Amino acid sequence: MRETFLVFGSPLIGEAEIAEVVDSLRSGWVGTGPKVQRFETMLSEYVGVPYCRCLSSCTAALILSMRLLGVGPGDEVLVPAMTFVASANAVEHTGATPVLIDSVPGTGLIDFAAAEAAITSRTRAIMPVHLAGRPVDMDRLATLRDQRGLVVIEDAAHAIGAEWRSRKIGAFGNLTAFSFYVTKNISTIEGGALVTEDPEIAAQVERLALHGLSLGAWQRFSDVGFRHYEVVNPGFKFNMTDVQAALGLHQLPRLDDWIELRREQWERYDELLAGLPLETPPPPEPGTKHARHLYQVLLDPDARVERDELLSALSERNIGTGVHYRGVHLHPFYRDKYGLRPEDFPVANAISERTVSLPLSPKVTESDQHDVVSALRELLR
Ligand SMILES: *Cc1c(COP(=O)(O)O)cnc(C)c1O
Repeated sequence: MRETFLVFGSPLIGEAEIAEVVDSLRSGWVGTGPKVQRFETMLSEYVGVPYCRCLSSCTAALILSMRLLGVGPGDEVLVPAMTFVASANAVEHTGATPVLIDSVPGTGLIDFAAAEAAITSRTRAIMPVHLAGRPVDMDRLATLRDQRGLVVIEDAAHAIGAEWRSRKIGAFGNLTAFSFYVTKNISTIEGGALVTEDPEIAAQVERLALHGLSLGAWQRFSDVGFRHYEVVNPGFKFNMTDVQAALGLHQLPRLDDWIELRREQWERYDELLAGLPLETPPPPEPGTKHARHLYQVLLDPDARVERDELLSALSERNIGTGVHYRGVHLHPFYRDKYGLRPEDFPVANAISERTVSLPLSPKVTESDQHDVVSALRELLR
């Protein structure tokens, strides 16, 4: 058995990040300032989109997006059932109704045919999730958007670095939200970003993220002289700090290499797991780049142990795993408020009961992977 616990999703933080954080602390400028601006520029160049605004989280980006697009009470928003609850929660906070959509088998991505069938006269928006880092079908999404007049807010929390036909996710003309939470492909500990082609949206995001003030913190406190601010809209407190951006400035340049490492780990798992009573994830679709955020296996229904027993047994063997996810429809708030039944979401439900995410990250070594697989062999054979 392993001697140390293999933490699921622990970020790789190098000396460059540490030095940059210390530099911020010593500089005296620790709030929103020049490093946030630099990180925004770096992100927009990386994604290939004109504007990026960094925020305190991806959840904040989702909430602001819907605000700015005028989604609110009386509106319906199509959201996959198989996602992190933050996607649906963000819709609830605007006063709109999240309409949960089942997954397609295999990839677990939103079922666009089911989404189309769920459109009513009240449907305003769709929030696709690039689950595990696998891009949804962007052609199908664009058709749905253009033919049915929906606005699109992409939850790309898993998908920084993913591509569809050589274009990065985030560069398809939709508002797109990224997450830099601890476990994501790059991390600022807490943090997120919203990218857009629209300069007016970008300006409004900046204002709404900081109380609705007419001047950002950087403009108010820089050395150009004192200026008064005015509030034109009651905003939120969703800004990112320079201490967070300090990490991002050194994480983003390593992202592509890290995705490549994740791809190697993915293929190693595919080989090592052959013959066990579980399904490995489908390969990426041709013409796409998968961001390899999660390596999710589906336990066979007739395996010797139940999924939750397996999670505990792995944990006893010092192996941390994840469950992505128990569907939104199973959580008491959504289940009770909207009267949702598991059988209404057969695919998302099966994933909820059978999925296990194995450790996959630039911190995971080949030897860690062997530990994971030998524990699985012992428990499943
Ligand atoms: C992590 C995650 C979020 C929320 O990101 P935060 O930055 O923690 O707010 C939203 N959606 C999905 C699919 C996620 O995995």
